[in-house]
Parts: sequence; C-alpha cells; structure tokens
Amino acid sequence: MKVLDLQCGQGHPFEGWFASEEDFLSQKDRSLLHCPVCGDVQVLKKPSAPRLNLSGVHSSTAQNPDAPRDEIALAHPKHADLLTAWLEISRKLLSSTTDVGDRFAEEARKIHYGDAPQRAIRGQATAHETRELLEEGVAVLPLLLPESSKTTLQ
Ligand SMILES: [Zn+2]
Repeated sequence: MKVLDLQCGQGHPFEGWFASEEDFLSQKDRSLLHCPVCGDVQVLKKPSAPRLNLSGVHSSTAQNPDAPRDEIALAHPKHADLLTAWLEISRKLLSSTTDVGDRFAEEARKIHYGDAPQRAIRGQATAHETRELLEEGVAVLPLLLPESSKTTLQ
C-alpha cells in the first residue's frame, strides 16, 4: 500500500491509497480519481517535501493556559543537523552577550531608554515581562537555549 498526498485542480489536499505508483497513474488516466471535496478529476500528486512543522504549542502552556505561546517547536527529519546548528547558534549567543540573570527586564529597559550602555544582554524573564518589554518597543527575543550549550560554556 502506498499513501499519496494528492491535490485537486482547486487546491484541495487529500490522501489517496494505492497499490503502487502505477496504480495511481492508471486510476488517474481513467479519471477514476476525484477530489472528495469538489469532485474535480484533475488530481495531482503533491511534491513530497520534507515536512517542517512549526507550531506554537509548548508544554508550559499546559500548566499555565494564559501564558503566551511565543516559543516555536520545530520538527525536522534531520533532527541531529538541526540540533547541532542550534547548539552552535546558542553558544555564539552566550559568548557574545552579558548574563544579567533575573535583572533582564530591568537592564533591557535601561539600555532601551539610554540609562545604561548599549550592549547585548541575556537573562531570565517571565513571559509577562517579555510581553511588556515588546509592547514598550524594547527589542527582546524569547529563546529557549539547549541545556548543553549552557553547561559547555560555564
Ligand atoms: Zn477539490
């Protein structure tokens, strides 16, 4: 059995089950295939691209349903490559920023309003603080750094 991702001429996506690729082509040639939504017989096979799933769902929202979903979950077939790249970026971020710990919101605000020297900082902020900073126009980026990138550096 072969499951194919199909699409009709109107762009409706649907799945088709076939014995083989040839089976699909033969059914298509005889106009036996049609879109379950609109009945269109112009059925195309969608190109099979690696699937990148971007979703805002994060485990913390389960505990706190009011927390903004600002973390991005990423699923990728080449998981290891992605993790390596992410670790590399994380290390660079850590080595080029000053850790201000839980004074992050305070420091970020000072820098923004010119009360502290311009520099790149990192630290901990709650989702609420981050949202407030963003609303004030302070350039901050919520990030989840891999644990291993922190331990390697310190
Ligand atoms: Zn359709």
